[in-house]
Amino acid sequence: MTVIDKIKTAQKTLFTFELMPPLKGNSFDEIAQTVEQLLPYHPAYINITNHRTEQVLVEHPDGSIEKLTLKKRAGTASIAAAIQYKYGIDVVPHLVCGGCTRSEIEDMLTDFDFLGIHNVLVLRGDPAKGEQHFVPTKDGYRYAVEALQQAMQMNAGHYLDESLHDAHSTHFCAGVAGYPEMHSESSDFDADLLHLKNKVEQGASYIVTQMFFDNQKYFRFVNECRKIGIEVPIIPGIKPLATSKQLTVLPQIFHIELPQKLVDNVQRCTSPQDVRKVGQEWCLEQCTELIKHKVPALHFYTMSKADNVETVVRAIFG
Ligand code: FAD
Repeated sequence: MTVIDKIKTAQKTLFTFELMPPLKGNSFDEIAQTVEQLLPYHPAYINITNHRTEQVLVEHPDGSIEKLTLKKRAGTASIAAAIQYKYGIDVVPHLVCGGCTRSEIEDMLTDFDFLGIHNVLVLRGDPAKGEQHFVPTKDGYRYAVEALQQAMQMNAGHYLDESLHDAHSTHFCAGVAGYPEMHSESSDFDADLLHLKNKVEQGASYIVTQMFFDNQKYFRFVNECRKIGIEVPIIPGIKPLATSKQLTVLPQIFHIELPQKLVDNVQRCTSPQDVRKVGQEWCLEQCTELIKHKVPALHFYTMSKADNVETVVRAIFG
């Protein structure tokens, strides 16, 4: 079932979460553990992130150093399929443009389709490590909307090879990312919203937001979206703060602000357990208010660690 159909038929706010493929060298069991821990709370679907290739320096035993281009977290499609068929839960693999040609994007979508996966979250991806700005791959895309258009073309039976006739039409339900606190590269909030609106006009069925810790920012974002005619469901992205280090790391990586009250509460903590408790309580309050506002779903960023998320969802969906 597609995400949009689930949202349309749901009687209440859905529980969903996102997982990262394990680091190379680990097994599927690692991810299975996280899934099984959150399974009792009936996730409506599970997102699996996608990671671009990066350059790493590898030191060999003889002291020589080699620059390798590799993915540290591979296997988005196979993990998605393994989860879908092992647990009977719908999955939403992410697709990122960064580091991919149009043809590789078509192949990724083809893999999803062959695997019986009809949901996809279409993203641009961040700049490659060491790069200040996003650099599109040769014969790739600069913006997520272009990959989205490609997916929609496949839904209409059009592939890159235009000589294909009567080609199979895929049935992708595509989501896209939105930023209540504005995307870091945007010049202004309104311009960012117009680019988001463009993604919806090009076929996105719903939006999932960047994480936020102040619900007012989400409410304002939804209001502004509605004002300019974005009518699709907007799913809030939620994460329980887990360590005091995240007070600096989360704003840096995700370009978000943490409310001063949350910062103060964490700074008063005397142990890592206290910090986790503060993070969970804050998150639970956020979720309770969001559910009161009848949000379509709560999308939890687990970062593949289920404990904190489980404490929160047990209180809501348990
Ligand atoms: P876009 O929609 O392309 O926007 C990027 C920037 O370009 C924005 O500033 C936008 O305003 C601007 N823009 C868009 N269109 C135009 C245009 N036509 N002209 C000028 N400017 C334009 N990253 C990963 O690598 N893997 C993941 O699995 C992943 N999952 C994510 C899940 C969620 C829910 C979210 C919110 C983010 C995720 N990300 C992931 C991060 C995401 O890839 C980055 O935030 C990235 O920097 C932007 O992606 P986007 O799809 O929003 O890009």
